[in-house]
Amino acid sequence: MAGKTQTMLAFYSNYVLLYRQNLILLIQHKSIQRMHRRTFLKHTAFIITATAAPEIFVQSCHAGTPRSDSGVRDRLVKQKFFDMVYDDDIFLEKDKLPLLKTSLLRLKKIQRTVGYANFSLLNFDDALKIGKSYASVGPFSRQEIDFLEMIFYSQVKGYGFMGEKPIKTITEKIIKKKVKKIPHTGNFLYRGRSIKMYRRIKKEVGNDVILTSGIRSVMKQFLLFLNKADKSCGNLSMASRSLAPPGYSFHGVGDFDVGKKGYGIHNFTERFTRTDVYKKLTKLGYLKFRYDRDNDLGVRFEPWHIKVI
Ligand SMILES: [Zn+2]
Repeated sequence: MAGKTQTMLAFYSNYVLLYRQNLILLIQHKSIQRMHRRTFLKHTAFIITATAAPEIFVQSCHAGTPRSDSGVRDRLVKQKFFDMVYDDDIFLEKDKLPLLKTSLLRLKKIQRTVGYANFSLLNFDDALKIGKSYASVGPFSRQEIDFLEMIFYSQVKGYGFMGEKPIKTITEKIIKKKVKKIPHTGNFLYRGRSIKMYRRIKKEVGNDVILTSGIRSVMKQFLLFLNKADKSCGNLSMASRSLAPPGYSFHGVGDFDVGKKGYGIHNFTERFTRTDVYKKLTKLGYLKFRYDRDNDLGVRFEPWHIKVI
């Protein structure tokens, strides 16, 4: 296994040299001025720009390499080693890093204030209100709001995330009547299809299966995504290989994650595929992957994610 990994890494490090010279990756944030937010939401077209996809460079600097093959190879290697930095990864502009940090800190303070479970349902407008109401949080600055809007409405394909966007507006609200808290998990699920599927899974797989992540509001997804981006020095490509950007997560509309009781962090690694819970889920046909091992979306393999929608 280690030998295979080394071979893959050696292959890839040679491969990325081919387009090192060609990459000038910028994220431009056009200042939103003091435009009313909803006007901005309607009319602004965007913001994050990137150079063309890597396979185009391969073609231009390495004539003869079949474009589709190199693109697929490149993508699959990145999805497998999702937590590594690649030469064509897109980073947030340096001057946006302080806004990333202060916005993230405010979100963490809000989570502490309203509680973990409630935060998973919190919408954008309520987050702004909480910021204003609690001295311990403090109001979001105009720049922080612009920054969050820039992240939400940017062209995520530019940094490698190719999935759909089920939530179209940053102010999307979760209707409380439509959700139910799942005891002892700190998570909510949508009534109807999601809860029914979860209950069936519990019944058929047994007590060992647990809900590890349920509904995630736009703000919850922001917290997770910005946290990952912060840990990777603003590397949006790396963050989006692990987590859908805000607006793109199907946790916002009904999907959820399961794991094995007592398995902790390993529930979010490929080790989960070795568990009886995973084997039973597969056998019973519950695992219809949103992010398959060789998916086309630029996202790592997520064998714990239950596709409902
Ligand atoms: Zn998931």
